[in-house]
Amino acid sequence: MSVSDFQPVIGLEVHAQLLTRSKIFCGCSTEFGAPPNANTCAVCLGMPGVLPVLNEKVVEFAVRTGLALGCRINPVSIWARKNYFYPDLPKGYQISQYDQPLCEHGVLEIDGEDGVRRIRIRRIHLEEDAGKNVHDAGGGESLVDLNRSGVPLVEIVSEPDIRSSAEAGEYLKALRDVLVYLGVNDGNLEEGSFRCDANVSVMRRGATQYGQRVELKNINSFRFVQKAIDYEIGRQVELVESGGKVAQETRLFDAVRGETRSMRSKEEAHDYRYFPEPDLPPLRIPGGLVERIGRELPELPRAKLQRFASSYGLPAYDAKILVGDRELADLFERTQAAYGGPAKKLSNWFTGELLRMLKEGAGAIGALRFAPAQFAALLKLVDGGELSNNAAKDVFAEMFRSGRDPKEIAREKGLVQVQDTGAVDAAVDAVLAANPGEVEKYRSGKKQVFGFLVGQVMKAMKGKGNPALVNAALKAKLGD
Ligand SMILES: [Zn+2]
Repeated sequence: MSVSDFQPVIGLEVHAQLLTRSKIFCGCSTEFGAPPNANTCAVCLGMPGVLPVLNEKVVEFAVRTGLALGCRINPVSIWARKNYFYPDLPKGYQISQYDQPLCEHGVLEIDGEDGVRRIRIRRIHLEEDAGKNVHDAGGGESLVDLNRSGVPLVEIVSEPDIRSSAEAGEYLKALRDVLVYLGVNDGNLEEGSFRCDANVSVMRRGATQYGQRVELKNINSFRFVQKAIDYEIGRQVELVESGGKVAQETRLFDAVRGETRSMRSKEEAHDYRYFPEPDLPPLRIPGGLVERIGRELPELPRAKLQRFASSYGLPAYDAKILVGDRELADLFERTQAAYGGPAKKLSNWFTGELLRMLKEGAGAIGALRFAPAQFAALLKLVDGGELSNNAAKDVFAEMFRSGRDPKEIAREKGLVQVQDTGAVDAAVDAVLAANPGEVEKYRSGKKQVFGFLVGQVMKAMKGKGNPALVNAALKAKLGD
């Protein structure tokens, strides 16, 4: 027996921070990086006697998320207290949703190894985040920072439909892309605004019952998700094969050692003593809200990807890069509309020069100095033979810096190619007259001297001759 005799079964739980300016039940700022405990008040500090007030924007963002993932939006959902003790949870409970969540029964399509896979979403519920314990703060003590306490989260729970660590990675990337497109999450794993727990079990191929699942906690990079899951699959298979039993537990992934280790035996739902939150009425979605948000949903990454491939005829590789960033995709469409030439040509400029300059200058697409029409004008200059490809790159770099018009820059830098056939003819005549020996060779069949003659004409024209015109004029005069 080996790993290939077993079928991994994986479900993912993602906690995503909603991009509201204030917290879910009070007016404190959600800004990341403030001094410890600066963004707190009596409500999110968990003082007795205070009451939570729901942030309307949080509900809108969660409904948007649910609709984008094809969920049913429940008209009534219930707030619940999840009771547990931890120093970063001063109330002793977290306000969450339990048996009646806001959204249910959705789906997310991903690219599996053998084609499209539909991963079902079991539920999406709202909850508040806890604070953060800071260990090893310097003096050997542990400190508590409650800036994050009360930050709004959606928890997105998939069904155990994922069958490999690679699929888990695809699912997370696709989910993050959707949330970022919706503008409800910044997709930042490092700052903890997109966190993932994985439920992993294995069963023998052909078995009908899932094995005992183990929960892997707080894995904070896409790379680690796959590593942690692969390690865990290997560990469970080895355990089962040697006659052992997988224990129900929560394990942490140790990124340094590349292994998971037991954190605690997994608590059951009833350990949390969930009960309806008495300080908040049931969440009732006002009539018309779901319809309005549905109408305002943007085109989602997968649909955009297909459209970029079909309507612009772009290769999948190009489409993926462009669609990977909503702003980049928008800029591409506006520029292409102004350009009207072959989309692949424009795509080459985007995936090449533009992305390179953005990366080097650490610039943002939203802060570009030139307009789509100017970008389009640059390509038209190349298409019309007025600029060589290399000269266009120089002009583009200057547009990037100054936002000035490409034609103006090209003229100023003396990069405009001579379009005047009279000037080209004159240069060709002069070169042919000065090189009778080469002309003789060409006419006697040594066609390779043609390149030399082109070079001489370009040199005579100081590099500004239009190569197509120069070629044509030379051939005509050589009698070809
Ligand atoms: Zn507060």
